[in-house]
Amino acid sequence: MIQREPVGLYIHVPFCRRKCPYCSFYSVAADETYMDAYLKAVLYALQKLPYRYDTVYFGGGTPVLLGAKRLCRILDAVDICSGAEISLEANPCAVDASLLRGLRVAGLNRISFGVQSFSDRELSALGRLHDAQQARYCVQEALRCGIGNVSIDLMLGTPCQTLESLSESIRTAVSLGVPHLSAYMLKIEPGTPYWRDQVQNSCPDDDSVAELYRSSVALLEEAGLKQYEISNFARQGYACRHNLKYWNCEDYAAVGPAAHSFLDGHRCACPAELDTFLSDPLHCDLVEEGTVSDRERAWEYAMLRLRLSEGLPLSAYAARGGDASRLLEHAEPLIAGGFVQYTGGNLRLTVDGFLLSNEVTVRLLD
Ligand code: SF4
Repeated sequence: MIQREPVGLYIHVPFCRRKCPYCSFYSVAADETYMDAYLKAVLYALQKLPYRYDTVYFGGGTPVLLGAKRLCRILDAVDICSGAEISLEANPCAVDASLLRGLRVAGLNRISFGVQSFSDRELSALGRLHDAQQARYCVQEALRCGIGNVSIDLMLGTPCQTLESLSESIRTAVSLGVPHLSAYMLKIEPGTPYWRDQVQNSCPDDDSVAELYRSSVALLEEAGLKQYEISNFARQGYACRHNLKYWNCEDYAAVGPAAHSFLDGHRCACPAELDTFLSDPLHCDLVEEGTVSDRERAWEYAMLRLRLSEGLPLSAYAARGGDASRLLEHAEPLIAGGFVQYTGGNLRLTVDGFLLSNEVTVRLLD
């Protein structure tokens, strides 16, 4: 039997201590009994999946709430290639030195802290359970215990945020020595308390958010963290290999409620419902209806690749059935407007293009 190439593995851990008022991700209250049942279901699913993995990513929710023991049991059950990237999202309010050391010993080599801001005022407006001091402590402990690839998430466009306060958060992140940083814009989704309370009225307006984004890119690049995706910045060699699989349309399996997989050209979603996952850990539904044409796959590839600073190689787009000449025709006015560049056979969005990425991508691929 020919052994297939390794794939990525995403594990969704749906537990949180408390729901943040802006969050629309699927999560439920952390509960020991549920977490034990969840562990059992994850182990069952992993045992049935016939893959080897070169990246493993625990996302959430708040994966660290499972504790080192459960997380280690999951890692023990995964068929991991040597040199694999093993990442975990972590909330500073739920991390201590012994947990970090335990995970390091179990093979964890990348951790991404949901810091969001180093301003206590902003953190409190975001309803976060940690403060800036705790966030600094976690990052320092993770680096101290040898988890080499430490990332910080910061949020842009949050209530009370100013250019000065964001610059201060970025300077703090850089001074801590992290090799990776993600800067996401706050998006207020329907159904969240932020939506209900119309919190957008106390957030910076669109022009100010654009300024915050441009200034973040400049500050980070100056500090040696190069932008490699709309919201992601890294020193050489520290880009997140797991997330790159998403943008390169490479295969990844998924386990856990609300987790999505992409395997052999098919996108599947596990139901966003913990009880369904517990009763049927392998249940997942095909996301696309009917057969997906080559043209649609090429469109999807282009859309994802255009998120990367490297951009879309037109040769690869054409090889997937896309019409490269038409794309170039559509690109002309966008190049003239400074939203897109075409160099070395790649079409790439500029920083201003990233700011309007949905619109620019739709115009290109229309
Ligand atoms: S900790 Fe993260 S996943 Fe949980 S509610 Fe807050 S933002 Fe959402």
